[in-house]
Amino acid sequence: MPIADKKLGEGTYAVVYLGHLKADPKRLVAIKKMKVNTAEWRDGLTMDAIREVKYLQELSHPNIIALHAVFSSKNQNLNLVLEYLPLGDLEMLIKDVDGIRYGTAEVKAWMGMLGRAVWFCHENFILHRDIKPNNLFIAADGEVKLADFGLARSFADPYRIMSHQVITRWYRPPELLLGARHYAGTVDVWSMGTVFAELILRRPFLAGQTDVEQLELICQWIGTPVEENWPGVSKLADYIRFDKGNIQPIRGKEFFLSTFGTAGPVGVDLLMSMLALDPRKRSTSRQVLEHKWWTSEPRPTAKEHLPKKG
Ligand code: ADP
Repeated sequence: MPIADKKLGEGTYAVVYLGHLKADPKRLVAIKKMKVNTAEWRDGLTMDAIREVKYLQELSHPNIIALHAVFSSKNQNLNLVLEYLPLGDLEMLIKDVDGIRYGTAEVKAWMGMLGRAVWFCHENFILHRDIKPNNLFIAADGEVKLADFGLARSFADPYRIMSHQVITRWYRPPELLLGARHYAGTVDVWSMGTVFAELILRRPFLAGQTDVEQLELICQWIGTPVEENWPGVSKLADYIRFDKGNIQPIRGKEFFLSTFGTAGPVGVDLLMSMLALDPRKRSTSRQVLEHKWWTSEPRPTAKEHLPKKG
């Protein structure tokens, strides 16, 4: 059982403490106490949820935060004992425009680590469903660690109806905004694409203030989802009949090059394949890793040379 020493921070669903293992006091850990008095958790904290979190303990990968243990304390509170990662996250680096400089080689290194983490989740039948820069922690050795599997669910059963109110809005793919109930690993690939774009722009790419505005931004920057470019889209539960006069065609390579040109034409090709509107045309996480961008110039920066919070 770990011992909690001091509070590290607080999020919507949890309070996080720094702690250490009783058996090994030098071994620091982060103890995440899920807030049990929020309605969602009271309803959601079933044995199923606990079993799923337990499953995450078995996911061992250099780019996935280690979950050392799961235990419940009084009031059936759920506690996660996680790898302690004090150097902040990718969002902090992106935002620190004056303090931190980086280029395509660094973006390639970070995206490569994210890509491997997501591929590994999918290989193990787990969807992350909340990929965003502030869930990507930076470890002392420069490694990016995908964290916050609070929403992660196994997708082994393709017929299971899933909630579409997942993924922070800016990183949410069009199929979820349109109410799709059956979806695949490609939801995470879209989120990865928006993180890729944000790393290049150094600001969130599609930052809608409401779900409707989020869809409008997708139409404007990627294209309007219609039957011609996405067969079956009009059958989705929340499909909006877009005004015929206002349909934006799918943006071509020239358009992406004008905004994301620093990634080079091969990088832009990968970005576009992650941001395909129709999830069936979008790259899978395996295809992402097979892309030629990783082996083309510039080579990704070695992790020990990546910028870190000062
Ligand atoms: P949020 O995702 O809303 O930031 P979390 O509940 O995940 O909320 O975390 C709250 C804060 O606790 C984070 O902002 C971070 O500062 C800190 N934190 C979370 N997990 C860790 C960890 N594994 N190691 C170090 N600090 C952490």
